[in-house]
Amino acid sequence: MTIVDVRTPDPKKFIKGATGDWEIVIGMEVHAQVTSEAKLFSGASTEFGKDPNNNVSLVDAAMPGMLPVINEECVRQAVRTGLGLKAEINLKSVFDRKNYFYPDLPQGYQISQFKQPIVGEGQVLLDMPEEQVEIGVERLHLEQDAGKSLHDQHPSMSFVDLNRSGVALMEIVSKPDLRSSEEAKAYLTKLRTILRYLGTCDGNMDQGSMRADVNVSVRRPGGEFGTRCEIKNVNSIRFVGQSIEYEARRQVAILEDGGEIDQETRLFDAVKGETRSMRSKEEAHDYRYFPDPDLLPLEFTRGFVDELAGHLPELPDDKKSRFVADYGLTAYDADILVVEKASADFFEDVAKGRDAKLSANWVINELFGRLNKEGKDLSESPVSAAQLGGIVDLIKAGTISGKIAKDLFEIVWTEGGDPAQIVEDRGMKQVTDLGAIEAIVDEILAANPDKVEQAKEKPNLVGWFVGQVMKASKGKANPQAVNDLLKQKIGLE
Ligand code: ADP
Ligand code: MG
Repeated sequence: MTIVDVRTPDPKKFIKGATGDWEIVIGMEVHAQVTSEAKLFSGASTEFGKDPNNNVSLVDAAMPGMLPVINEECVRQAVRTGLGLKAEINLKSVFDRKNYFYPDLPQGYQISQFKQPIVGEGQVLLDMPEEQVEIGVERLHLEQDAGKSLHDQHPSMSFVDLNRSGVALMEIVSKPDLRSSEEAKAYLTKLRTILRYLGTCDGNMDQGSMRADVNVSVRRPGGEFGTRCEIKNVNSIRFVGQSIEYEARRQVAILEDGGEIDQETRLFDAVKGETRSMRSKEEAHDYRYFPDPDLLPLEFTRGFVDELAGHLPELPDDKKSRFVADYGLTAYDADILVVEKASADFFEDVAKGRDAKLSANWVINELFGRLNKEGKDLSESPVSAAQLGGIVDLIKAGTISGKIAKDLFEIVWTEGGDPAQIVEDRGMKQVTDLGAIEAIVDEILAANPDKVEQAKEKPNLVGWFVGQVMKASKGKANPQAVNDLLKQKIGLE
């Protein structure tokens, strides 16, 4: 593979070494478990969390004479993922055997795709705070997962759980286009968002349904690519960031010391926050890849691909553009909303027929803020879209002030109920009745004659009076009406 460097070196991302600047280069290989009821070449279930060896067919256990049969749903999911990554779909692809020995691999080889993968080059767009970056996808191929060795069940024996054996994985390989740990984390987050929108992988890294191998090298800015190390199976986005920071600095220290980087496979130790050598890097020829004689090449028509393309859901980039164009949201707010399809949908439910910016504000700042604080997911929110919409309606109609709205939100959060009814029952309505407000205004002005004199010179003081009136009205006076009245009475207009 010849690598074309598509990035311009950015000094903000450099590591400052004793001998000058260094640029980090990162490429990722993400293993994403295909969302499918059954495995890639057998009918066994893929359900998570079953007792060991409950989801195992004779094919998955590699009993002699058993033949793999391709699961069409997994193929469809891989093609849909390729389309979501704006990638080339290869109408013909080939399954190969990747040979190696390990107790959790009863076949003695993994069925994967090597020279002719199902999906070719694509892109993932990253919205970084100061720039948009397009990260190249090299390829996506289908392969089987292995089983799992269990070493800590017994003092002198190891066990093998084949539940995962044969489960379909998509390996999504990026080009070495990433230049910082921030970009690598953003890439993984964006990829996960796209997969979840497509429904082709649930993206749950803590259950192992998405795992990342992180390739890291360093070089002089814009220079020749350096030798990389591959950090295997990093299982959270935060750890991806930490492992890159550690690994890049380790390599810089070696190079500045006059040493060389050994191309090797490393492990990330999350407890110590460091990477450790696991083994020297194996080369493709070590695996003796060859086309699997038990499987025909995968071939489909353009029509099959077009049909899937015609039924893709709206993807995050398009949704974001639409939120900015149709609702007038800032790119920043739109970004926050589209990360999860559920939050984008929630926002649209609130915003339907309402002031979109006000709605976005309440969804992001109040609701998401509160959910975050309580460590709750949107699906566990005690406030529904209809209830939040009700609060937005009351603010918009001037029935309650922004301040009272926060109290109201608190009540709906803890007690539930219909916002309009709560406002009615508890007398939370904003007082727009000028007579009532005027009485309070007069009272406050009369009590502070010297401040009134000062305010004539320093109009900013009106703000202090507004505060006093609001306090006296227990937050129920309409602040705009109070402000207007005060200015008029002090003689500022
Ligand atoms: P392999 O399959 O042997 O791991 P590939 O050539 O397919 O190797 O590359 C694997 C990953 O390593 C890709 O994500 C690629 O972008 C990345 N990569 C390749 N060269 C470098 C490099 N010099 N520095 C960092 N990452 C790299
Ligand atoms: Mg690799």
